[in-house]
Amino acid sequence: MNAPARHLTIIGAGLAGALLGILLRRRGWDVDLYEKRGDPRVQGYGGGRSINLALAERGRHALRAADADDAVMRHAIMMRGRMVHVGDTEPVLQRYGRDDDEVIWSVHRGDLNIVLLDLAEAAGARLHFDAGLDSVNFDSRRAVFRDPRDRSTREVPFQALVGADGAGSALRAAMHRVHDLGQRSDFLDHGYKELEIPPRGDGGFRIEPNALHIWPRGHYMCIALPNDEKTFTVTLFLPHQAGADGGPAFDQLGDVDAARAFFERDFPSALALIPDFDRDWAGNPVGQLATLYLERWHLDGRAVLLGDAAHAMVPFHGQGMNCAFEDCVALAGHLDANADLATAFAAFEAERKPDAAAIQRMALDNYLEMRDRVDDADYLLQRELELA
Ligand code: FAD
Repeated sequence: MNAPARHLTIIGAGLAGALLGILLRRRGWDVDLYEKRGDPRVQGYGGGRSINLALAERGRHALRAADADDAVMRHAIMMRGRMVHVGDTEPVLQRYGRDDDEVIWSVHRGDLNIVLLDLAEAAGARLHFDAGLDSVNFDSRRAVFRDPRDRSTREVPFQALVGADGAGSALRAAMHRVHDLGQRSDFLDHGYKELEIPPRGDGGFRIEPNALHIWPRGHYMCIALPNDEKTFTVTLFLPHQAGADGGPAFDQLGDVDAARAFFERDFPSALALIPDFDRDWAGNPVGQLATLYLERWHLDGRAVLLGDAAHAMVPFHGQGMNCAFEDCVALAGHLDANADLATAFAAFEAERKPDAAAIQRMALDNYLEMRDRVDDADYLLQRELELA
C-alpha cells in the first residue's frame, strides 16, 4: 500500500505532536500520530515528568491558531506573579505586569495532552497508542513500531515522518544513523524532584493559588505551581552531587530521613504543606536536565524534528513547551507555503533554529546566574523563572 499524498506520520502524541496533528488536519493533511505510551484518556496520564507547566503568551498564540485555546484554558490557573518565601516573613505577591493581561498560566501536563488529543482526533487525525517508533528504513520509507506491552511490531509505509517524540527522540537517532545531525547534549549538574501539596481538608488550596511560589536558597530552590484539582506541584532543583562548597545535593539525600532533615532546615514552610513528603520523596525519581544542540533538524523531505526532539532546553525560563508549540505553527505554515516537503522542512529549520537557540541560551543564562549569584536574592527573584 502506498502512503497517500499530503500525508504525514507524526512520531509522539505528546504536547507538540498532538497540537501539530490538529493544525495539519485543519489544513487538509492526512495525519497519523504514533505514541509509545497507552491512551491517557483510557488508562490515566503516565507522563512521568514536570506534572504541570507554565503556559505563556507564545504558547497561547499557537493554541489559538489551532482553535484549542478555549478548551485548554478551562484547565488553566492564572499566575499573576511570584510569591517568594524567604525566612519567616509572609510572602507577598510580586506581579508580572500591571494587570491580569500580563500573566502566565499553570496547566497540568496530563489535562493539556488529553485536550489536545481529543481535538486532534475530532479533527480527523488517526491516533495509534502503544506504538513506539523502533526503526526506520528511509530508502523504502517504511517505519517499524513496537508495542511495549507485548514487544510485537508492525511495519508502516510513510511519506514523511515528523519527530515530536521528545528529548530522547527515537526518530532523531534513526535519522542520525543515515546522516550526521551534529548532535551534542550538555547535561546540567542540577536535577529535579517533584513533590505534592494536596488540597486543604475543606477541599481548597493550601496557599495562594494565583501565583508561582518560589523558595530561593542560592544554589538550589523549590518552586510550586497550582493545579486545578487544588493541589500544587512542588519542584526541588538541586545539584546531583555535592561540590566543593559542601552544599546539599541529591547524592547526600538518598534516604528519606536525610531528605526530611534537609527540608526541615531549609524549607520548613514548604515541608509543612507536604503531608506525604516521605512517600513523594521515595516514589518520585530525580530528573535530569539537559540542553540538546543539533546542527540539522531534517533529512531532506523524509523527516523533520521539532519541539524537544530538536532543541530540548533546561526549564529555567519555562519556555520549552511554549517554544515547541511555536514550532508547530511554523511548520504548518511552511507546509502550506511549499508543495515540496524538503523545501518546507528546510524553511522551517531556517526560521526556527535561531529562535530555539536564543531561548535555549536564555534558559541556560538564567540557570548560570541563579547558580553564581547566590547571595543576591533580589536579583534571583527578578531572573529566576521570569516566564512571561
Ligand atoms: P514531550 O512532551 O516529551 O512529548 C514527546 C512524546 O513522544 C511523549 O508523549 C512520548 O511518550 C512520545 N514518545 C517518546 N518516544 C517515542 C517513540 N519512540 N515513539 C512514539 N512516541 C514516543 N516548558 C514550558 O513551556 N513551561 C514550563 O513551565 C516547563 N517546565 C518544565 C519543567 C521541567 C522539570 C521540565 C523537565 C520541562 C519543563 N518544560 C516546560 C519543558 C517541556 O516539558 C517540554 O519542552 C515539552 O514537553 C516538549 O514537548 P514535546 O511534545 O516536544 O515533547
